[in-house]
Amino acid sequence: MSDRLPAPGGLALVEALVNTVDLESGRDALDTAEGRTPFGIGERDLAQARELRESLRAACLAHAGHPPHRAVTPLGDLLARAPLYVAVDARDGSARLTPVEEGPLLSRVAGAVAQALTEGTWQRLKACELPDCHWAYYDRSPAGRGRWCSMAVCGARAKMRRYRAKGA
Ligand SMILES: [Zn+2]
Repeated sequence: MSDRLPAPGGLALVEALVNTVDLESGRDALDTAEGRTPFGIGERDLAQARELRESLRAACLAHAGHPPHRAVTPLGDLLARAPLYVAVDARDGSARLTPVEEGPLLSRVAGAVAQALTEGTWQRLKACELPDCHWAYYDRSPAGRGRWCSMAVCGARAKMRRYRAKGA
């Protein structure tokens, strides 16, 4: 749905997870084993993964100044279940927030959010403002005011709607 480059660093995982479902058609890549593979989850993890996905989408919408698309578990509540610690590299003294438990999807997402915080990229992971899209994208615009996953697709659709609304 988007011709943009993937989000930088660990945010690519978060972006990919949010974009596993096409809200318009309801097609969900997590329904297939192939679609679940990149996230290292099985069928029994589906409910949790979907809950996490929609909480992340709500955070992406919030980054663009939009209210949540539906009632979701606050992302902070979910991430609180995946504690992080400060890992320090003894050789060069560099430090980073690392999940206590490396494996689970929730931990990897928590680690990715922490990394994005230190890199200043978290706020730029947004969700498209069109309700039947809400696709996640990384806003690379200089001012950070991007509104659509794709100017050519959703930007054009939004303009068409405004045009029609005016004509009516
Ligand atoms: Zn869109």
